[in-house]
Amino acid sequence: MRVRLLEQQRLEVILKIAERCNLNCSYCYFFNRGDNTYLGHAPLIARSVVHQVASFLVAGARAKGLRFVQIDFHGGEPLLMGKPHFAQMCEVFRGALTPFVDLKLCVQTNATLIDAAWIELFARYDVNVSTSLDGPAEYHDKARVDFAGQGTSVQTMAGIDLLRAAVKAGALPGFGVLCVINPDHSARRIYRHFVNELGLASMDFLLPLVTYDAPADAPAERFGDFLIELFDEWAADDEPHIQVRVLNSVMSLLLGGRAKVAGIGPNLAPAITIASDGSIGPDDTLRVCGSAYMDSRMNVATATLADYLDSPFMADLVAAQRHLPSLCKECCWARVCAGGPLSSRYSSSHEFDAPSIFCAGLKPFFAHVSRYLLDHGVPEARLGATLLGPDWKAISSAF
Ligand code: SF4
Ligand code: SF4
Repeated sequence: MRVRLLEQQRLEVILKIAERCNLNCSYCYFFNRGDNTYLGHAPLIARSVVHQVASFLVAGARAKGLRFVQIDFHGGEPLLMGKPHFAQMCEVFRGALTPFVDLKLCVQTNATLIDAAWIELFARYDVNVSTSLDGPAEYHDKARVDFAGQGTSVQTMAGIDLLRAAVKAGALPGFGVLCVINPDHSARRIYRHFVNELGLASMDFLLPLVTYDAPADAPAERFGDFLIELFDEWAADDEPHIQVRVLNSVMSLLLGGRAKVAGIGPNLAPAITIASDGSIGPDDTLRVCGSAYMDSRMNVATATLADYLDSPFMADLVAAQRHLPSLCKECCWARVCAGGPLSSRYSSSHEFDAPSIFCAGLKPFFAHVSRYLLDHGVPEARLGATLLGPDWKAISSAF
């Protein structure tokens, strides 16, 4: 079976350039969710593997007609790679791929190691920066701790302050923050911290990576409450330049558009992950379902992109993603939610055939955003074209 993944000739690559970290966040899906395959991988990607990845992507881009490739430098903590190695890696990718594709380089960092020289590198190689920040110190320090169990907000904010200064000085175009949702925390307080105290305009809020086998500590409804509070705060600002990816994505999907981020809505172009040893796997988030889901037994040294994308391993995952869980088939939100990302549907007994474990929170959240759209002039018929159900009037009157 051939897998049509590249409808838009786009590919996102999560590249594990460092498989170790200087922090030990309690919720970390990479180190603290039971998958220890990283211990068998090199702590840092070798220069030889960087060249192999570049060759793999160039050949894949030509064979698959790719027009856009995004490489996310991921970890662990990617800045552990060190500046000379990082600079050389950027040179390799820019030199190899720029003649063939529109290349976007990104880095996801905990920000604790950022200094002026790192910022100079990000600017020189046009690397988009995203940092992890769970809100003000009293929130951030709950889960984002070092190996001594100490909160890391001071080190994180030192890096973020350097980024903010670089943006103000025009050295960087901007940067984003990612916050993992803890429903014990106030969405309002976090949003105001980001927007009013830090002056940020690009952010996202992530549901924790949990499965039915290892669920979150709080019920799903409380995550929905958090998202609703966040939406109300953001909507009250009415500042289109403030981008909150999960909210922009849900609005877009409700209006018949596309999500701004993988993991929300129908996802026809999942990312691939390349580990520090060159092994190839699917979207990194699937590791919370067990290491077997990351193990395609292929490596950039010997396989092509087509080998991987057209493999039975990938076909099974794409089929699972596209197969709506049985209990979602009659749900009016199915075109917006698509049953949730695979990891949120997973249990060892039913694999992926269950609604998102956050379903009971997602439904009221989607209804709340729909109600907002109706109240702000979006015609019922426009929402009705997106939402499923034989009787749209009955659905809308239930909000
Ligand atoms: S900084 Fe990121 S990679 Fe490191 S422990 Fe925290 S969540 Fe995991
Ligand atoms: S809201 Fe719940 S039932 Fe509806 S598609 Fe999403 S996970 Fe499935």
